[in-house]
Amino acid sequence: MSQYQAGRHFLHTPGPTNVPDRVLRAMHRAPINHRGPEWGGVGREVVVNLRKIFGTDGIVAIYPASGTGAWEAALLNTLSPGDQVLMSHTGWFAHLWVQMAQRLGLEPVLLETDWRRGADVAAIEERLVADKSHKIKAVCVVHNETSTSCMTHVLPVRQAMDRTAHPALLMVDAISSLACSDFQHDAWGVDVTISGSQKGLMIPPGLSFNAISAKALAAAKTAKLPRSYWDWEPLVTANSTGFFPYTPAENLMFALNEALKMLLEEGLPNVYARHERYAEATRRAVRTWDLELQCQDPQSYSPGVTAIRTPDGHSADNLRNVILEKFNMALGNGLGQITDKVFRIGHMGDLGELQLIGALGGVEMGMRVAGVPHKSGGAQTAMDYLAGNA
Ligand SMILES: *Cc1c(COP(=O)(O)O)cnc(C)c1O
Repeated sequence: MSQYQAGRHFLHTPGPTNVPDRVLRAMHRAPINHRGPEWGGVGREVVVNLRKIFGTDGIVAIYPASGTGAWEAALLNTLSPGDQVLMSHTGWFAHLWVQMAQRLGLEPVLLETDWRRGADVAAIEERLVADKSHKIKAVCVVHNETSTSCMTHVLPVRQAMDRTAHPALLMVDAISSLACSDFQHDAWGVDVTISGSQKGLMIPPGLSFNAISAKALAAAKTAKLPRSYWDWEPLVTANSTGFFPYTPAENLMFALNEALKMLLEEGLPNVYARHERYAEATRRAVRTWDLELQCQDPQSYSPGVTAIRTPDGHSADNLRNVILEKFNMALGNGLGQITDKVFRIGHMGDLGELQLIGALGGVEMGMRVAGVPHKSGGAQTAMDYLAGNA
């Protein structure tokens, strides 16, 4: 793109998301001695507030890595070569996690979906019941499948596991759901919750997390996959002292500290309600456009992202390119088997109503310019909804 574009860039990818000015200012400072007294305070404060977002009183390990690193940490710390892991293939991110498990020498047992709904909880239960000899060591689900904008609700999965009395660990990828919708690591009986920094947490990419149950910590004592950098043990100590076994990504931690304060100031229930409201406004716009949502199950609609199918024969990637060039807005692309068939509007993180209306207006104008058949008035429908529910 050579042309100068006036005004703000509209970042509507479902990660990275907009970083609030308060967070930018908090991270704009020189690093400090990470073994000195000031640092310990920062580290401890971050852990205390992170626990509130994860809904846990337990350990939260913090890695200087993208979300993918925390996926790996979760598997390495709890499992041994050849272990079976029951994985629901709900979309592209689930797919990447499966691939990782294979590469690490685990044996994924796959439960397929059509990528248009959450995981099939009955199928998980059935598979666990059939596993009489308890070969399956972990059940893995993606809470918010960012590629399809379909949620898998965690509590029903936990309840299904409890009904079978199967001892497998429950691992949940909450990378793009944390701080967008309620999460209760302890109350939902999750063993490892995996998350990342650049989605609902509103800070730049580069940090990721494992919230760890007592059962998962116990499993780590006998798990035999090789691990060193990813080992939980020294990070457990960091939870009480604020000091890390290696140099923490200090400026990202300054950012996280500020972002967590902002989320708690707004109040988590308000944060979640805001996301639901924007998602509903967006879906209403999509229906007015007469386009199809990728997610076909209303129970699974995502609060943080909406994946929209373009009509057959109309390239979603071309539409995104037109919108980027003409209107300076970045949207999420289709991934894997739905490449070029969907575009995704991210509405997670730090976002005001007018930004959302601007984004929907940009999509509508883009469809007109790109010649994507639609009915006009989607942005108006969203305005009516937001103004009527102010
Ligand atoms: C973004 C995302 C990932 C990958 O995280 P990276 O930070 O890109 O490594 C994994 N799972 C889900 C659900 C995601 O949204």
